[in-house]
Amino acid sequence: MASVQRINNFINGKYASTENYLESLNPCTEEIIAHIADSTEDDAKLAVQAARQAFPSWSRQTAAKRIHYLNRIADLIEARLEDFARAESSDQGKPLWLARTVEIPRAVDNFRFFATALSQSRESFTQHTSAPNVISYTTRSPCGVAVLISPWNLPLYLLTWKIAPCIAFGCTCVCKPSEFTSVTAGMLAQVFIDAELPPGVVNLVFGVGPRVGQALITHPDVNAISFTGSTATGYHIKKATSHLPVKISLEMGGKNSGIIFNDADLSKCLPVLLRSCFLNSGQICLCTSRLYVQREIYDEFLKKFIAEVNTLKVGDPSDDSTKMGPVVSKEHQNKIEKYIELARQNGNKVIVAGIMDENIKKSSRGYFIMPTVILNVDDESKLMTEEIFGPVVCIVPFDTEDEVMERVNKTQYGLCGCLWTESIGRAHRLATRMECGTVWINGWMLRDLRMPFGGVKDSGVGREGYPYSEDVFTEIKTVGINIA
Ligand code: NAD
Repeated sequence: MASVQRINNFINGKYASTENYLESLNPCTEEIIAHIADSTEDDAKLAVQAARQAFPSWSRQTAAKRIHYLNRIADLIEARLEDFARAESSDQGKPLWLARTVEIPRAVDNFRFFATALSQSRESFTQHTSAPNVISYTTRSPCGVAVLISPWNLPLYLLTWKIAPCIAFGCTCVCKPSEFTSVTAGMLAQVFIDAELPPGVVNLVFGVGPRVGQALITHPDVNAISFTGSTATGYHIKKATSHLPVKISLEMGGKNSGIIFNDADLSKCLPVLLRSCFLNSGQICLCTSRLYVQREIYDEFLKKFIAEVNTLKVGDPSDDSTKMGPVVSKEHQNKIEKYIELARQNGNKVIVAGIMDENIKKSSRGYFIMPTVILNVDDESKLMTEEIFGPVVCIVPFDTEDEVMERVNKTQYGLCGCLWTESIGRAHRLATRMECGTVWINGWMLRDLRMPFGGVKDSGVGREGYPYSEDVFTEIKTVGINIA
């Protein structure tokens, strides 16, 4: 059995213990792998104070100096990639290969990307001469102390996607990772120490959202909040801060759809859709959870798709042949199972597919959910409108373009979607009409970090990426000069 780690807060460049600790479990073995600081309002205050003290000096650092730190942090995470990947996999339940080949490398890229962006940044002087004898220009300044709040599904990947732009643009921060998956964030503290990042520039506090998270978002000395998580928490943050002059970026839930037209190349589309529905056990905000298939190819598509789903091996995340590990927690497993039970009660067809690893089956431990396909489901059903965030996909037929657009858009969410067709005109026509932040045509998760990322409707407010994150972490100012 692996040793149980203690994850302490990291405030002003030093580890800080707390009175109480939370248990963090490995979702495959259900063993305790870490004790996480259960921080209080006082810990939140200390962390904000440290970030505030570090701000004047950090915000005046040259771009070259900040680039140096960003690259140094990237190098150090890369050098410890295997340790980070193993920790992420055992904390969250994701396959080790996924953490090793995608998620931890992306955390490295997040720092390198903003280092490069900073070195190639747009001109800082935009001159306007709309009135005689007046020159106006704009300048950007770091906005101050930011609170960065992240969820449990892609722990290091998403937290570093916030830390990197925040410190690149000259802000200091207090990070509050999810209480379900705090281990890799805890490991970042040592990276910051080894990178000799000035104390207080990045502070980490751990614990539960309604306590330490709440204390951070309502702290009067915080200037910006960058949040990724559920829609309910996002709206709670918006409401709780409505009386404060704080900038907010919210990346929230989704109910993403895939539309497959009868001219789609199924041989290319099926393997991609399999990933889009079941990667990380469906626990990626971009995962597809509703598939609309044109009626002429519905039966053929279903037969082929289910055959593919049946090949998915579910089991121990550390085994390289595992395609799907457990879901993150008992609580989340119960939530997903309730949706599957609802489908049965509604009389929908429920197909439980995939291959369960024999050892896992025998041990009867772990929060596993087999990949599940639901058919004959109404558009109004909760299964089609609410975010399940697990390995569950609903598949329904459609007839026409107008009809499918109306049905796809009839949801509170608007994060992303994918379209599968060989008709270029139709693809662009529908990409424009789909109500979401990102549309992929004949693909899924074709991410380019320079493109804006975010949602519409209940999926979010604001965009991340470069230069978009700059709007969260800086204030733009107009300077007018009388040159008469
Ligand atoms: P969550 O909203 O429960 O928690 C997210 C974070 O908010 C956690 O760190 C939590 O401790 C904190 N929090 C909770 N209450 C708080 C409060 N009162 N004040 C301050 N912080 C508080 O979300 P989750 O269950 O961790 O994550 C899953 C959700 O995240 C899903 O809805 C998923 O779609 C969404 N998500 C969205 C994106 C995106 O880019 N849009 C990316 C990943 C995940």
